[in-house]
Amino acid sequence: MRDGTGARVSHTEAFVPTPPGHPYTLHSDSTADLLLCVGFDKGGRGTTTAKLVATVAYQARPQSRSKSILMSTMPCIRDDNARLHEMIGPSVLELQRTLTRGVAVDGTLRAVWLIWTGDLAFLSAFVGHAGATARFPCVFCPAVSRPGPLHAELIAKYGTLQRPDAPPADLRTRRQLQEAMEAFRASDNDVLPLPLSPWQHLSTIKCPLMAVYPAEIAVIPLHATLGGTLTLIDLGLEAVYEAKRAAACIEAAASLGRTLLEDIRVRPVPYHGGAMERRECHRTSAKYPLVCGALAPYLAVDKLATLRAGWTDWAAIVGTLNTASDVTLAEIESFTRLARRLMPPLRSAFPWLNVTPKLHAIAHHTPAFCGGLVPWAPLGSKRWKLGTASSISHRRDAPPTPS
Ligand SMILES: [Zn+2]
Repeated sequence: MRDGTGARVSHTEAFVPTPPGHPYTLHSDSTADLLLCVGFDKGGRGTTTAKLVATVAYQARPQSRSKSILMSTMPCIRDDNARLHEMIGPSVLELQRTLTRGVAVDGTLRAVWLIWTGDLAFLSAFVGHAGATARFPCVFCPAVSRPGPLHAELIAKYGTLQRPDAPPADLRTRRQLQEAMEAFRASDNDVLPLPLSPWQHLSTIKCPLMAVYPAEIAVIPLHATLGGTLTLIDLGLEAVYEAKRAAACIEAAASLGRTLLEDIRVRPVPYHGGAMERRECHRTSAKYPLVCGALAPYLAVDKLATLRAGWTDWAAIVGTLNTASDVTLAEIESFTRLARRLMPPLRSAFPWLNVTPKLHAIAHHTPAFCGGLVPWAPLGSKRWKLGTASSISHRRDAPPTPS
């Protein structure tokens, strides 16, 4: 843990569990603690499997398998809310107890931060959220998907993803998840005579698996980077279509495909929606001049320059997301600035560009996970493809709620 000046904060206090019936309070920075990351990811060649893994965030060796516990692995086609209750449900009570009681290390009781890692689809299913196409598509905040005549009041209250330069007005809270769990147990929304509207339940439509601070949830950087890299590739081809229509777009796509296969040397995989995996996504970002070069004959100079500037910022963002080193305050500031300025010029030049929940999360929620503590140990174990998270600075902004 680091303070606002970047200096390390030493752990001088042992954790004291909150007595039953007392209001939940967050432990102080100087309390000894332990970061427990529990992640879930599906994929792999052949039979798709899901792996549920617990990892202790350990900066010195972030990919150490001895710091990871494989809790279960199973064939998995879907990781929807019902399947997650089946797969993770038995572990949730134990995890909740661990949070409440703390963990003894070398005779000292430590507080536990539980950090869920997974792609956004998993996180949506985990908190009972309706997903990326919902009216409130972000699992971290209640920002509205897009402006519209019916959304003016909601946008004034919560903000919208389509104003990427404006930070979200508020974060979702643990209390909202607790209320959703209670409401779901009392009566399924689908069977109510008058089902609650999205603006009433903020697109939480299933029973959350666990009431955690949404601010304590990290996203696997791999999936975050996939969202940006593929968006920029698609955007280049869409720009060609807008300027020169279908025949030129097909020609440009063939040219870009050859560049990806032969020059950048990346290939699609049968999962991730047929996109790229692992380092290939990072390699594409690092070699973005080749992508821009393939599209150059088809785009106007100003459009190409805007696209190139977007790729330049994106490559730097991916660099921070994929470092296993200590992220300095200067790099956090640089990352935050780049992430927040990425979309506005692109949306000005290409007005049809939709700010997806992933891009919104990178701009407004990921910087909080880069703050002050250890590693952003990006892909974590290559074998599990799970990341550990780092400091959660804005958890301190979350109001205490009864446990
Ligand atoms: Zn959000």
